Amino acid sequence: MTTFSDFGLAEPIQRAVAELGYVTPTPIQEQAIPVVLQNRDVMGAAQTGTGKTAGFALPILQRLMRHANSSASPARHPVRSLILAPTRELADQIYENVRDYAKYSGLRSAVVFGGVDIKPQIAALRQGCEVLVATPGRLLDHVGQKTVNLSQVEVLVLDEADRMLDMGFLPDIQRIIQLLPKQRQNLMFSATFSGEIRKLAESFLNDPQLIEVARRNATAENVEQRVYRVADADAKRGAVARLIRDHSLEQVIVFSNTKIGAGRLARQLERDGLNASAIHGDKSQQERLATLEGFKRGDIKVLVATDVAARGLDIAELPAVINYDLPYSPEDYVHRIGRTGRAGASGMALSLMLESDGRLLGAIEGLIKRKLEPTALDVPRQPREGRPRRDLPEARPRRERPTRREGGSSVGLSNDPFFYKPYEPAPSAADAGDSGRPDAMAPGRQRAQRPGRAGAPVAALLGGLRRAG
Ligand code: AMP
Repeated sequence: MTTFSDFGLAEPIQRAVAELGYVTPTPIQEQAIPVVLQNRDVMGAAQTGTGKTAGFALPILQRLMRHANSSASPARHPVRSLILAPTRELADQIYENVRDYAKYSGLRSAVVFGGVDIKPQIAALRQGCEVLVATPGRLLDHVGQKTVNLSQVEVLVLDEADRMLDMGFLPDIQRIIQLLPKQRQNLMFSATFSGEIRKLAESFLNDPQLIEVARRNATAENVEQRVYRVADADAKRGAVARLIRDHSLEQVIVFSNTKIGAGRLARQLERDGLNASAIHGDKSQQERLATLEGFKRGDIKVLVATDVAARGLDIAELPAVINYDLPYSPEDYVHRIGRTGRAGASGMALSLMLESDGRLLGAIEGLIKRKLEPTALDVPRQPREGRPRRDLPEARPRRERPTRREGGSSVGLSNDPFFYKPYEPAPSAADAGDSGRPDAMAPGRQRAQRPGRAGAPVAALLGGLRRAG
């Protein structure tokens, strides 16, 4: 069995990894680390939760070790590796990991994302950092203000590339790539392979090694899925508290399709004596991070989230998720329930539906290729809160485009048909259970495919992207 010492990583990196308690590399790490160490470009099929971050960050740090120095001069610490991520939460998570891995290396790291004051970020960038994690919009703001120099970048990472395209970041990514030296290593990770992803990969990856971790079927077999039919929208709010109590759930994420619905439900749960908090696109970055921290610490029992806000959250060992609303897109159902039953733990996915949601349930059943057999749940009607308001779905990510808040970096979006093409995961990927959360950390249930064997299915997904031998 491979261990971290087999990769030949420098002692300071190995020490940091050991301190974090990592003993066995995950499948994506086992495959990606040697390839990245060979300075090869990588196209990786893997999602958050697979150990992907260490899969790229550890070999990048190893590559950069030759630049490590203890000089106080910022000029001696130019940005050598740029990691782009779609959301603030994911960027922050990657940064925290990189910072931990780089702890003893003498390499510096920093993170920049929108929705927060830019000044502390400018101060951090002034200190110099070898690894910079960024969301595209805010990075371009820094470029505009000349507070970052990307001319020394040796390694570029695009993490959750499908999400970035989904959020309309393509023009920003293209602008950023223009600012980097031509000679560099490129790593791209994506959970799905749409035509856009293929096009992006072809445009900037150079003879990439394709790496894929085998995934679960569309839904994990260790997640128990139940669907409850309730009488009406008012009954639904009472149903959530009841399910939490009936199933003695310690902590749970509840998914709402709308921002208003999420806020209203969190208030109802508070009134029911449960410690609940909502996280959605209308909350400030500080509020979102504070809520997330509170949930991770266990202070918050129920996190009510929209799909947009929940993206990229890494919350370990969640016993259950509740779908307060059935999602409009069946892929979102798979993403949602993938938040439980991770790392070999068993989990529970409880969904509420109204009589009128039959079509949504049918779409989910079609995707996961399984009947869900709803049962009726009798809940006393809950009194309405205040005057009813029109409840709009949470803005899709592209409307929550960070550039708007981050200021002035959107380029020619209105004329870009490529950008406006609706996001569609490739049918072949969906058939292969592509939207399922990979189960990389559960030995036995999942087998890593070696790069040599991974080629065929990935090449098929990529539809002819040239694969290196
Ligand atoms: P990621 O997919 O990179 O977000 O990682 C998911 C979680 O797994 C993070 O909390 C990591 O700290 C953790 N992790 C990553 N690699 C390992 C490993 N080899 N052993 C144990 N935990 C790991």
